[in-house]
Amino acid sequence: MALTPMMIQYFEVKETCKDCILFFRLGDFYEMFFDDAQLAAKELELVLTGRDCGLEKRAPMCGIPHHAANIYVGRLIAKGYKVAICEQVEDPALAKGIVKREVIKIITPGTYTDSGFLEETKNNYIMSIYINKETDFCGLCFCDVSTGEFTCTETKLNIVTILDEISKFTPKEIIVSEDIADEILNVIKERFNVSYSAYPNDFFIIKNDKIIKNQFHNYSEKTFSQTLLSSISGLLSYIIDTQKKSLSHIDTLEYYDILDYVSLDVNSRRNLELTETLRDKTKKGSLLWVLDRTNTAMGARRLRKWLDQPLINKKMIDERLEAVEEIKNNTTTHEDLKDVLVDIYDIERLVGKISSKNVNAKELISLKNSIEKIPKVKSIISVLNSKLMNKIYLELDDLQDIHNILEKSIINSPAISIKEGNIIKEGFNGEIDELRLAKAHGKEWIATLESDEKRITGIKSLKVGYNRVFGYYIEVTKLNIPSIPEGRYIRKQTLSNAERYITPELKEMEDKILGAQDKLVNIEYEIFTGIREEIEKHIERMKNTAKLISEIDCLSSLASIALENNYTRPKINKKGILNIIGGRHPVVEKMMPTNTFIENDTYMDEKDNQLLLITGPNMAGKSTYMRQVALITIMAQMGSFVPCASADIPICDKIFTRIGASDDLAAGKSTFMVEMWEVSNILKNATNKSLVLLDEVGRGTSTYDGLSIAWSVIEYICKNTNLRSKTLFATHYHELTKLEGIIKGVKNYSVAVKKIENEIVFLRKIVPGGADESYGIEVAKLAGLPKGVINRANEILTSLEKNNASTEINFINKKPEKMDKSIKSSGKVNEENIVQKESAVTYEADIVQDEVTQISFTDIEKDNILKEIKNINILNLTPMDGFNKLYELVNRAKLLS
Ligand code: ATP
Repeated sequence: MALTPMMIQYFEVKETCKDCILFFRLGDFYEMFFDDAQLAAKELELVLTGRDCGLEKRAPMCGIPHHAANIYVGRLIAKGYKVAICEQVEDPALAKGIVKREVIKIITPGTYTDSGFLEETKNNYIMSIYINKETDFCGLCFCDVSTGEFTCTETKLNIVTILDEISKFTPKEIIVSEDIADEILNVIKERFNVSYSAYPNDFFIIKNDKIIKNQFHNYSEKTFSQTLLSSISGLLSYIIDTQKKSLSHIDTLEYYDILDYVSLDVNSRRNLELTETLRDKTKKGSLLWVLDRTNTAMGARRLRKWLDQPLINKKMIDERLEAVEEIKNNTTTHEDLKDVLVDIYDIERLVGKISSKNVNAKELISLKNSIEKIPKVKSIISVLNSKLMNKIYLELDDLQDIHNILEKSIINSPAISIKEGNIIKEGFNGEIDELRLAKAHGKEWIATLESDEKRITGIKSLKVGYNRVFGYYIEVTKLNIPSIPEGRYIRKQTLSNAERYITPELKEMEDKILGAQDKLVNIEYEIFTGIREEIEKHIERMKNTAKLISEIDCLSSLASIALENNYTRPKINKKGILNIIGGRHPVVEKMMPTNTFIENDTYMDEKDNQLLLITGPNMAGKSTYMRQVALITIMAQMGSFVPCASADIPICDKIFTRIGASDDLAAGKSTFMVEMWEVSNILKNATNKSLVLLDEVGRGTSTYDGLSIAWSVIEYICKNTNLRSKTLFATHYHELTKLEGIIKGVKNYSVAVKKIENEIVFLRKIVPGGADESYGIEVAKLAGLPKGVINRANEILTSLEKNNASTEINFINKKPEKMDKSIKSSGKVNEENIVQKESAVTYEADIVQDEVTQISFTDIEKDNILKEIKNINILNLTPMDGFNKLYELVNRAKLLS
């Protein structure tokens, strides 16, 4: 048996897009076959059917109506699949044999631009990684096809840097060159929800730079290495291959230096909850949630970028701060700005649609309405004098020529479809005006015909109607048919209670009207594409205006939150001094009733206050305090005012955090292993300009091991001249407080608590000196642990404290065998009291009744033996079984004595 011709065509097309789900156009449907059908039926919950394909078995098949394709494509893309759209590229009526079909577009997660599926306030990046094994460097590129942004950088091949850049841009899709190490690829797959594909080096390696030269107007301004060029060329080829066309709005090649921005690793971004919360991954509860008061989608995306990429250049930070201050202090200007920004649409993405020829007339009207607001924005900011606002003012192109084109040509409420007419304004094109007149005239003629015929025939209910099949007709009810003069009408259609007629004149006029309508639609479409092309010539200008508007929006947003939340302008210094007076956590304070958050100061420098060792009970506020210092630093370096009374912030190059759980746990590594991996990364990469937050380092292992590790990490950070990072180190190991005075740079702080009648009260105040007690049991009590467990814990603690064993280490967490040894060696502890009771506590009973009765292991075993003896049925035992049972019981009884 042989495949049908259509199936042969299907397989030929499928061969060109093997890694995609193929949407194969058949009439009004997109059909999927074989494996694609099975997969799509499962993922999209479609009914799986079959189709004769010429083989013995029918081909599995499922399909979707063509007009609903966007929804289904969106769902597949969200699940990480690629979809190839194969269309009929010739008129089936004119086709000789099978209709010609071609893949017209490949839609992938990183290149998808449907506004219904993209998040307005988030960029949608695709990334390329090209590894040059010979130089050990790699080129990284990012492109947002929806906005036209294309940016790149080059770096020494280093897994940590690659991960940092991925977490900064969070691309939806990555294409990598085949030389990428499995180790890197595996970590990317484990840590990021991203689809990726590997391509041979040949796909990347650039033969000539024509493709890049043609795409980017500024290409010749900078010299790029071969590695970076390969990465750029690979990504560009991929985009062109999938879109099946070059996109004119991807016209500017931006280069960034990784060292121009604060380096934040994946875990730090997640732990500090910069753009989403750790727990439910939502914006609410993140720092972005507090900072974002932008009024445009472009502004929201840029603010996210500013937060993801805090600056290192003091001049640039000061410029942003100065502009925020100026807007904040000019209330009228600020209010006017907010009012006008609200009415500006997403010019960046509209421009993307113009370039990909997906824009409709309604969207061009949105563009026109947005451009209309730009002179107003310009006039509002003209009163501002800060350096940055001045620069923006001078650069801001108000695009009035584009506004004029749109104003003259497109009606204010055009049809959504560009193939239905009703787009072009009267007076813009003579031919369109004439055709409209002819159409209107024809309709008038028909109205007159109806009244004339009513008069002539005397049939009051006579009417002229229209339908797609018969065109215009005269309708007369059955009752009135005898009143029609003989031979006046030609009968066309019979209904149950009426007849429909035509006349030669009516048909003539119909031809004129319909001809005018068809022509009108075609000409309007032609004129519309002409306008679109004219506007497309100004893409670079529009993109630049959009960027400046988004910057104004960000600065205005930062001014709003500074005002709303009573933030102050930080002073940025290069002296390495961090001095925060009355600091607050920007997110936690928003979650609490107004004015209830307790402010705290922080002082750090490069000499005696380099590492703050923070002790204090659980729940006291140690993590909140540490995070607050990091968040204030990030906010300051992105150009935002900060939550405190005053702040001196040193320029920080990298922020590291070792806090809480990590995503690597899911990847099969133990908590302790992950903790040590992260600490090791910090010790290898931090500098004396870095800020390091370490929360309870060492807690994942035994007390002795953990304490020793924490101790030596502190020594390493403070004594190693290459490191000496500003460090906040929270710990429960009180022994470490002895390091103040021994290791230069270490300063003890604790979070104050008060004990009132056995209850602890958290004061949330950071005070100099170490904490005197842990209060762990009190906090456990607050958490609702059963009374019995709490009482027992207090009992054990008292015994241990009495013992105050030979070492100075509190050994509550110690390994049992070590504990035994130290207890014995001290000779002060009643072994019976601790070890035996420890193993004998019955937690089951504890759940039933809160008061615990302490029963020893001996008692339980005696009970068990007695029960077993009572239950022995002697008559059922063989002599041998009896002997064995007796032997077992005797041995167990011996163990009890
Ligand atoms: P643990 O050692 O158990 O991790 P912790 O000392 O790190 O605890 P945090 O998690 O920082 O404690 O704080 C516990 C809670 O205390 C926070 O969720 C917050 O509600 C509150 N809190 C922390 N700091 C302050 C503050 N300065 N003012 C008011 N409330 C605070």
